[in-house]
Amino acid sequence: MTRPPRFDAAAEEVARTAAAAPDWEALAAVARPCVACPELAATRQHVVVGDVPAGGRPRFALVGEAPGASEDETGRAFVGKSGQLLDRLLVEAGLDRAEAAVLNVVKCRPPGNRTPKASEVARCSGWLRRQLDLLDPPVVVALGLSSAKWFLGPRTVLAEVRGRAHDVDGRAVWATYHPSAAIRFGPKGTPRAGLLADLTAVAGTLA
Ligand code: SF4
Repeated sequence: MTRPPRFDAAAEEVARTAAAAPDWEALAAVARPCVACPELAATRQHVVVGDVPAGGRPRFALVGEAPGASEDETGRAFVGKSGQLLDRLLVEAGLDRAEAAVLNVVKCRPPGNRTPKASEVARCSGWLRRQLDLLDPPVVVALGLSSAKWFLGPRTVLAEVRGRAHDVDGRAVWATYHPSAAIRFGPKGTPRAGLLADLTAVAGTLA
């Protein structure tokens, strides 16, 4: 997995604070006021910590790149257009979002939905790593290249890694297209078909 650079004091501070949180609620409480990334902290409305199932261990985790405008406004993960498409594809694939943890690599919306900077990913990594430790999902679906790189390394090429599970720290990690790519390329585009195929394959492993 991605490790925060040792020289980045802010990343180290996030990692230390996150590691000390004993449970999900405590982690969410210390993450919400986070200002480790000055630009994001100044422009966001909410730190989008993520959603977890009402009780017990998630059957799987969905991990995207970063919140968009709707997520920033509501404080909830994957509730905008991408989230709505994701919900439809989860149903088609036979997966239940209520059984999933829904998370992002970066918890604050980058201005204009730009790709998060490496320093922002590094700083936010402490939160995600502790979330995965606490929730312990046996299966992770990494949505989009930023998330795929977080789990599988910075040289990851999505086309080369998708379509199968990768063992990462004892979890089965599936890397696939982000639903925003499925929207951008349209209903007959490769990303939508690939995302549905991968979610269906994940559902098969959980059956
Ligand atoms: S993106 Fe993550 S590390 Fe940066 S300010 Fe937001 S919560 Fe903190």
